[in-house]
Amino acid sequence: MARSPRLPILLFLLSLAIGPGRPARAAEAAAVPATPDTATFAWRALADLCDLVGTRPAGTPQMARAVDWAVGTLRQAGFDSVWTEPVTVPVWVRGREWARCTAPVAFDLRLLGLGLSDGTGPHGIEADVLVVRSFEELDRRSTEAAGRIVLFNMPWEDYGRTVQYRSRGASAAARHGAVACLVRSVTPFSLATPHTGMMRYADDAPRIPAAAITVEDAARLQRLADRGLQPRVHLFMEARNLGDGPCANVVADIRGARWPEQIVLLAAHLDSWDVGTCAHDDAAGCAMVMAAARELIAGGTRPARTVRVVLYTAEEIGVYGGRAYRDAHEHELDRHVVALESDSGAFAPRGFSVAGDSLAVERVRALAAPLAPLGADAVTAGGSGADIGPLVERGVPGIGHRVDGDTYFHTHHSPADDLDKVEPALVVRNARAIAGLTRALADDPEPLPRRAATPAPPPVPVTPEPPRAQPRGR
Ligand SMILES: [Zn+2]
Repeated sequence: MARSPRLPILLFLLSLAIGPGRPARAAEAAAVPATPDTATFAWRALADLCDLVGTRPAGTPQMARAVDWAVGTLRQAGFDSVWTEPVTVPVWVRGREWARCTAPVAFDLRLLGLGLSDGTGPHGIEADVLVVRSFEELDRRSTEAAGRIVLFNMPWEDYGRTVQYRSRGASAAARHGAVACLVRSVTPFSLATPHTGMMRYADDAPRIPAAAITVEDAARLQRLADRGLQPRVHLFMEARNLGDGPCANVVADIRGARWPEQIVLLAAHLDSWDVGTCAHDDAAGCAMVMAAARELIAGGTRPARTVRVVLYTAEEIGVYGGRAYRDAHEHELDRHVVALESDSGAFAPRGFSVAGDSLAVERVRALAAPLAPLGADAVTAGGSGADIGPLVERGVPGIGHRVDGDTYFHTHHSPADDLDKVEPALVVRNARAIAGLTRALADDPEPLPRRAATPAPPPVPVTPEPPRAQPRGR
């Protein structure tokens, strides 16, 4: 059963709602813990990461710069200890790329090769295009696929379902003899920007190059095919997989005053795609969890438990940082009392989703109730975050930071995901919401109920597995 939060926590959380969003009056300022710099810090961190560091693909020199930036920023912010942990990541580089429709009418296609795709070779690949709207249509028309470029022009349903074409489309097409794969960008809305993202080659299919094209170009190729015309495309991609390379997670602790051995983990991913500056995905998450943790120090009262920020690497290319952290901390997973991830952008705060049983959901709902003035008190059962997924699989209660998601996929993994799309006031509100819940989780005498861990360390995951039924009594 949910208990009411203790009065001091309640007062602290309420005070967080009165941030520098409006001018502080003297009486207010006296009542508010000393957190005057959170707004400045949060926005500055985000702007520095986007404008001074830029894109951050795992294993590249740009990502190494991002790691250096994060270590320096966290040290300056007053964390007790800051360090990096090595992660081996697959290194993929895009190189130059282009595509052109050559018949029945010539026009350039706007494209982005998909992460982990092979290239086309120096002469590119030119072939007739088979346009299909679904895997089922491809199966029905499989005799038409051999020697062709398959274009998946699937309608947007939701991210989870639509992204299957981006991740599995190339191998599905290759099984029917296709020579390359194009995918309509995974987005519900388009102003002619292509959206990249990771793809995977299945073991049982030839490796063919794969790229995303814009919704507009996919629709035009569909219309040409619907007229009974035969579109033909010339695709060129220099993309290369360079094998494994070194990279790092960045970890920073605020030591707990009462139970320093118990860890409340705040997560975001520092790596990104190589287009735009990936401001919402997930520079904003990094800035917000850094600012939230820093607010706890600025408040002057240490949290009872240790608050640990982990900025993960290689989320985009397969959650390598998340698994490396789990493996490196295998001996102390039972001391991780909860993990909270922010990887949904910096839109208006809504609340949190909890990967745990109903008792955990109820508990988080009670702890988040005082965040109502920030609009961040809606707590539901649901997913947590990709990077903390390996911890959650092992029984650590997981919490996902939730925001208004209506426009997140408009810019996701596209050149349009840049700082101009982020509203500074919302970065601050989200940081305050995360700070409020973090303080409550860190100080609550009773830790969240733990999940039953999966029986054995999971194999290298290809896609996150659905929750398994747990044996009774565990
Ligand atoms: Zn992300």
